[in-house]
Amino acid sequence: MSRTQKTRLAETPDVLLDARRQRTCVPVLDFVVGGVEFVTMAGPCSVETESQLMATAHHVRRAGARILRGGAFKPRSSPYEFQGLGLEGLKLLAAARDETGLAVVTEVMSECDVPLVAEFADILQIGSRSMENYTLLEAAAQSGKPILLKRGMVATVADLLRSAQVILINNNPNVILCERGIRTFETAMRNTFDAAGIAFLKQVTHLPVIADPSHAAGHHDLVPALARIGVAAGADGLLVEVHPNPDQAWSDGEQSLDFAEFDTMMTALQPWIELRAMALGEEGLEQREFALKRTRDGAI
Ligand code: PEP
Ligand code: MN
Repeated sequence: MSRTQKTRLAETPDVLLDARRQRTCVPVLDFVVGGVEFVTMAGPCSVETESQLMATAHHVRRAGARILRGGAFKPRSSPYEFQGLGLEGLKLLAAARDETGLAVVTEVMSECDVPLVAEFADILQIGSRSMENYTLLEAAAQSGKPILLKRGMVATVADLLRSAQVILINNNPNVILCERGIRTFETAMRNTFDAAGIAFLKQVTHLPVIADPSHAAGHHDLVPALARIGVAAGADGLLVEVHPNPDQAWSDGEQSLDFAEFDTMMTALQPWIELRAMALGEEGLEQREFALKRTRDGAI
């Protein structure tokens, strides 16, 4: 890292790559995020019904996903839109994990809900609108669960790292960063996908970085291209919205892939994912060993 980069990021020493010998691999169930394996998190924007969630979980698992996503508490741009099923949604997510073996990531919006969501989820998602809610970050960190920290839509990369630092100093090392697009003067797409931000984060931090092409694109046709760009930029995995019937989705239908589109995207990504594993080479193998050792030693 250059001296200028270091000065700029001096406020967040614990997230920087040179603060650690190894990159962080976040243990989730029996695998890690941030290692050699490229990890796909997929599922509906919102948990709606049992049949919607189960069908999606089974489908994305067969297509190679490791983690089921789905919102039970939804931060909506309008207060009049569907706000999520709450506890009922969490129960459905846990049932889907039991049936499929997928891990579960779901958003927690309020520090009051942290104990409840932590009871059901394997990873707590901090949404774009909550990234700078430090009270929530502290409570989420103290739950001991891995945290998927989404970049605020008007947050700089340095802002994102400041929020990650808050989690780390609250004794939770298991932070996964997520680029989901930022607001710019461009309006043709829902957000502007910051691929350079992903490459930069991989250069300066030891934390895993996930690309969310769905919220960046805002339209399903653009999602596979952004996913490919995310892999090429160095992302460790993807967060993708998938729905059995996007036209009927209760939230974010326009950007959700249907099952066939998800399959096509996953197949097309394979060569890119293999290139990524090759590029990791020795470092990748060391990371895997290190993570397994941490898990064995009970360091999680
Ligand atoms: C989501 O993942 O469904 C979501 C609400 O994302 P974001 O916080 O990035 O808008
Ligand atoms: Mn969504």
